Amino acid sequence: MSFTVALVGRPNVGKSTLFNRLAGKKLALVDDTPGVTRDWRSAPARMGGLSFTVVDTAGLEDVTDDSLEARMRRQTERALDRADVALFIVDARAGITPLDRHFASLLRKGKTPVLLVANKAEGKAGMPGLYEAFELGLGEPIPLSAEHGEGMADLVQALLPFA
Ligand code: GDP
Ligand code: MG
Repeated sequence: MSFTVALVGRPNVGKSTLFNRLAGKKLALVDDTPGVTRDWRSAPARMGGLSFTVVDTAGLEDVTDDSLEARMRRQTERALDRADVALFIVDARAGITPLDRHFASLLRKGKTPVLLVANKAEGKAGMPGLYEAFELGLGEPIPLSAEHGEGMADLVQALLPFA
């Protein structure tokens, strides 16, 4: 029994850090063949008794001809196509940005279920951003520190209904 979790959100919120934590050492399917453009990567993940496939959206920096917004939307749509649930990640330290609000409204209109994750929530610096995240209309944010591994049990709990 397995399901697929897509990590989406603007650059620098910690998607790849969370991907690496979830995938552990089993980093797979990263295609570094020259000339092959990959804007997502996936790996098997195992956490708190759950087994799933995690999909990272990446490579936003590699393409130059389109706006950031257009690239994000395209990559997010592709990742959502293959996902049972999306983790929409925001940066609790930076707070909620206009780009976050824009993508929150797109995600609210989509058919893939979305869980809101407020990353970089370790310590007190993440508190204002965590409260701001409630305004996104995607339910209660799950506070997380992908870097320090805090909040992972709550994340597992939130993912359980999709297993
Ligand atoms: P992405 O662009 O969304 O994939 O973000 P990255 O995973 O590349 O992370 C962007 C930056 O945020 C890096 O410098 C990470 O070390 C940092 N970062 C990621 N997770 C955390 C966290 O939980 N707390 C803090 N303070 N920094 C983090
Ligand atoms: Mg990344």
